[in-house]
Amino acid sequence: MLLSQLKIQFIDQLKDDYPTTEIESFFHILTEEYLGMTRLETALNRDFEVSEEQKAWFEHALLRLKDHEPIQHITGKEEFFGMKFKVNEHVLIPRPETEELVEWIVSEFRNVSKPIRILDIGTGSGCIAVSLKKAIGNAEVVAFDISEKALKLAEENARENHVKANFEKKDILQTEDLKQKFDIIVSNPPYVREIEKKDMQRNVLDHEPETALYVKDTDPLIFYSKITSLAQHALNPGGCLYFEINQYLAEETKALVESSGFETELKKDIFGNFRMLKGIKK
Ligand code: GLN
Repeated sequence: MLLSQLKIQFIDQLKDDYPTTEIESFFHILTEEYLGMTRLETALNRDFEVSEEQKAWFEHALLRLKDHEPIQHITGKEEFFGMKFKVNEHVLIPRPETEELVEWIVSEFRNVSKPIRILDIGTGSGCIAVSLKKAIGNAEVVAFDISEKALKLAEENARENHVKANFEKKDILQTEDLKQKFDIIVSNPPYVREIEKKDMQRNVLDHEPETALYVKDTDPLIFYSKITSLAQHALNPGGCLYFEINQYLAEETKALVESSGFETELKKDIFGNFRMLKGIKK
């Protein structure tokens, strides 16, 4: 079958499930993955003959997309901060908003000459921890997660990106004392409330890990409150907290962090939503 025919079929079979631009983007991710062809090469080689085996790969991916599986689960990876991260159903797929949080920290600490210690709480794929270690040479990075399966993947991602970090299994809500000092504590904890589920896409709802995403409507800031209280003792003087936050709870999260004696700064993401919060230990 010709590549051009495969593309027409592919788009046609997914047209009831996704907008055309999204289907085209899936197709190009898959041509890159399965045929090693960039978007431009795909456009220039419409008469490329796709083998039966290659066609079967596309058909298998198509079925998974029909089931609204994220494309990143199909290819097994996502790009974050210029690096490749393996992903699977046990971790949250790295988001561009989180890249902005990393960007913020890096812009403030890239040129610090003294060694600094960073803790990432709820590391998942390890995307924050690994990116920070890569960008801030003299940082020592520790990362926690409650999930053993997530930690295994995070360790793999650190290894593959040639970065050293210490990954530890920890349930932060059950932790009384961090027992170590840090200059930066960063976290993208679960923050989506049950009432917000109605606005979410099936690919997230059906395929991404609940423990990484959701909090109870009655206690949506549980992770922020716990981490801020641990940070009061665990941060060195002048140390900073960096959180990814729920855009609908920005003011509440800010007030909570301030009530623990931190100076705060809110920041919007590329979509114009308050998505990041910094707390400076006074
Ligand atoms: N931003 C993510 C989403 O919308 C949620 C991340 C999180 O809960 N920490 O799916």
